[in-house]
Amino acid sequence: MERGAGVLKRLAPEQLLAIDKFLVDDEYRHIVLDRDKCKSCHGRPCIYACPAGLYNLKDGEVTFDCAGCLECGTCRVVCPQSLQWEYPRGGFGIVYRYG
Ligand code: SF4
Ligand code: SF4
Repeated sequence: MERGAGVLKRLAPEQLLAIDKFLVDDEYRHIVLDRDKCKSCHGRPCIYACPAGLYNLKDGEVTFDCAGCLECGTCRVVCPQSLQWEYPRGGFGIVYRYG
């Protein structure tokens, strides 16, 4: 919801996500893919399940970028290969602006 002239305006999920802030930790990646396991992964569910769209396919390989991670844990749950997953270090990661 956005306040404006005394009126509450409903925002779409994409709009709410766009106003969140992500503090990038250049020295620690909180999610690490095993390239060999990804090559043999059936279906590569992370590409379809990540709500932030951080997993992509490029030249037949899965690519991933930590920046923008919502820390929802979905990729950890759907990955059949025990993806290395941690929360970001203190002071880094997503800063939600609307809860
Ligand atoms: S689901 Fe896991 S193993 Fe499969 S492509 Fe994604 S990160 Fe790699
Ligand atoms: S924790 Fe959620 S937002 Fe972050 S990479 Fe995994 S699925 Fe995407």
